[in-house]
Amino acid sequence: MQAPSVGGVMLPRGNGETIRLSRGASLTDFAEKINANPASLVAVMMNLGEMVTATQSVSDETLQLLAEEMNYKVQIVSPEEEDRELLESFDLEFGEDEGSEEDLVVRPPVVTVMGHVDHGKTRLLDAIRKTNVIAGEAGGITQHIGAYQVTTEVNDEERKITFIDTPGHEAFTAMRARGAKSTDIAILVVAANDGVMPQTVEALNHAKAADVPIVVAVNKIDVEGADPQKVRGQLTEYGLVAEEYGGDTMFVDISAKQGLHIDELLEAVILTADASLDLRANPKQAAQGIAIESRLDRGRGAVATVLVQRGTLRVGDTMVVGDAYGRVRAMLDDSGNNVSEAGPSTPVQVLGLTNVPGAGDNFIVVPEDRTARQIAEKRAARERNAAFAKRTRRVSLEDLDKVLKAGEVQQLNLIIKGDASGSVEALESSLLQLDVGEEVDIRVLHRGVGAVTESDIDLAMGSDAIVIGFNVRAAGRAQQMAEREGVDVRYYSVIYQAIEEIEAALKGMLKPEYEEVELGTAEIREVFKSSKLGNIAGVIIRSGEVRRNTKARLIRDGKVVAENLTIEGLRRFKDDVTEIREGFEGGINLGNFNDIKVDDIIATYEMREKPRA
Ligand code: GDP
Repeated sequence: MQAPSVGGVMLPRGNGETIRLSRGASLTDFAEKINANPASLVAVMMNLGEMVTATQSVSDETLQLLAEEMNYKVQIVSPEEEDRELLESFDLEFGEDEGSEEDLVVRPPVVTVMGHVDHGKTRLLDAIRKTNVIAGEAGGITQHIGAYQVTTEVNDEERKITFIDTPGHEAFTAMRARGAKSTDIAILVVAANDGVMPQTVEALNHAKAADVPIVVAVNKIDVEGADPQKVRGQLTEYGLVAEEYGGDTMFVDISAKQGLHIDELLEAVILTADASLDLRANPKQAAQGIAIESRLDRGRGAVATVLVQRGTLRVGDTMVVGDAYGRVRAMLDDSGNNVSEAGPSTPVQVLGLTNVPGAGDNFIVVPEDRTARQIAEKRAARERNAAFAKRTRRVSLEDLDKVLKAGEVQQLNLIIKGDASGSVEALESSLLQLDVGEEVDIRVLHRGVGAVTESDIDLAMGSDAIVIGFNVRAAGRAQQMAEREGVDVRYYSVIYQAIEEIEAALKGMLKPEYEEVELGTAEIREVFKSSKLGNIAGVIIRSGEVRRNTKARLIRDGKVVAENLTIEGLRRFKDDVTEIREGFEGGINLGNFNDIKVDDIIATYEMREKPRA
C-alpha cells in the first residue's frame, strides 16, 4: 500500500485505468486527465526524488513511474500516432494508396544524391539537369524549386526519374526524423581520387537505416590518380558489393565535370528500381505527398515545393501541409511553367498556402476548406506543445548522469566542430581515451572544421547528441535552432576544459544544483473553517509575495512544524488571485493540511537551479 498522502497532499489514486498521454506531456497534462491538482503530482514526484515543475515536460519513464505510484497505467502516444488519429477523426488516412491493384500505375523513382563533401554531389545534380531533355525543350527559365524530373531511355522506353535537388543526407535525414519517406533510391557519390570518407559511410548508413537501395556513382574518374576499383573494394567492407564482383549494387564510373556516363548512371537507377522496388501509385485519388522545401516570397506569399506521392494534385484543390493549409492557386513545374495538375512522383511548386510548411511535412488534399483549417490548427497547437516539451527532453551534459542511470542512453553521442582539423582531431582522440567506467561509450558521430551549422543541430536532434564547438560558434540560425530544439551546444577554447567537463558529466558530477529561494512569508491572523475546503488562513503578507501553487512550510514559534505544503488556494476578498504582495491581506488554503493556528507563519519558497560557477 502506498501512503495516502505525501507532505499533507492527498495522492490521487486510480483503479488501474489507462491514461493516454502525448510524448513529452507535463504533470499538468497528467493532472488534467485524472482530474487532480498538478501540485499534488509535483509533490508525488518530489517524494520519488525528482524535482519537476508542473508545466515542465517529463520523460516517458517518469510518466510511467508516476502513474504506477498512483495506480494508473499510462500509454504514451507518439506524435505520429496522434497525427494518424487526428486525420482519422476526419475520416482521412495518409500513406496508403486507395483502391485495388488495378488502380496502381508505375511511378518514377525519387532519388537523393548523397556522399562526402566535395565529392561532386552538386556538380552531379547540375550535370544530370543539363543533359535532361525536358528542361531543354521546355523553354521556361530553369529554376531551383528543390526537386526536378528528368527523362532517360531504358530498353527503348522513356523513363522518368525525380531528383531531390538538395544534395547530402542532412535533408533526407531531417525529413526521415519527421517520419517522412521522401526517397526511393540513393545515389552515393564517391570521388575516385579520394575514396571512401567519413561522410560516405555516414550517408550509406543513413540510406541503409531508411532501407533505401543504393546506386554508387564513382565520380571524378577524369582526375589523375583516380582509382574506381579501389572504391569498389573499400565499399565491400560496408556491405556494398558491386555486381561485377557478385554483389547486387550497381557501380557506375562517372565524371560530373565532363558529363561522362551520366546516362549510364540514370539507367542504373531505373534498373535498380525495377529490380528491387515496386514503385506504383494510384493517380486517381485525392493527392498526398510531402513538402520538400518552402519559403516566403514577398510577392507571392508562401511558396512550397511538394512531391506528389499518390493521387493527382490540381489547381483549385484544398490541401493541408503540416500546419499550413490553403487552396492551390497556381502550380509551377521545375522549369517555371504553369501546370494544372501533377501526378505521382512529380515535384511542383504550390502557391496559395496560408503559411510556410516545414520540409518533410506531409500534405493531403481534403474535400473541404474547413477540414484543412481544423487539421492545420490542431497540428499547430500540438507543435507548440511539442516545442515546449523538446526543450527539456534531449540529453544535456547536466542530465546525462540521470539518463545513463535510467538506462535511456548507453553512450554519449558527440558532434565536434572546431577551427582547425588538428584541434578537432586532438580533441576527439583525447575524448575517446576517457575512461569512465564500463557502461558508457563515447561516440563521435561527426566531426568537422567550421562553425556549428543547422545540419549539425539536425544530426544532434536525430541522435540525441551533444555538440561541441571548439574555437568556433554557431553559424546563421543554428543557435536559435539548438535552443528551440533543446540541443546542448557547448563552446570551449581550451581542450582540457572540454575534456574535464565531459568527464565530469559522465561521472555524474554535473548535476544541476538547486537552491531554495524564499518567495514570501504570511502571518496567520485568523483561521476560518470552511466545510468544503477545511481550514482557511486569514493572513497578512509580511515579506515578498505569496503565489499560488508554490511550496510552503509552516513555522510556529520559530520552528518548522510542517514541510512540503502547497499554496493550493489564494484569495483576496472574494476573488481567486495568483499572488498577493507584501502588506496586503488575503486567504490561504493549504489543501488538505488543516493544522494551522493564529500567529503561525507560512513561508513560501521555490527551488531554483543554481548557476554553475
Ligand atoms: P559536393 O560538396 O559533393 O556538392 O561537391 P561539389 O559538386 O561542390 O564538387 C566539389 C568540387 O569538385 C568542385 O570544385 C567541382 O567542380 C569538382 N568536381 C565535381 N565533380 C568532378 C569531376 O567529375 N571531375 C573533376 N575533375 N572535378 C569535379
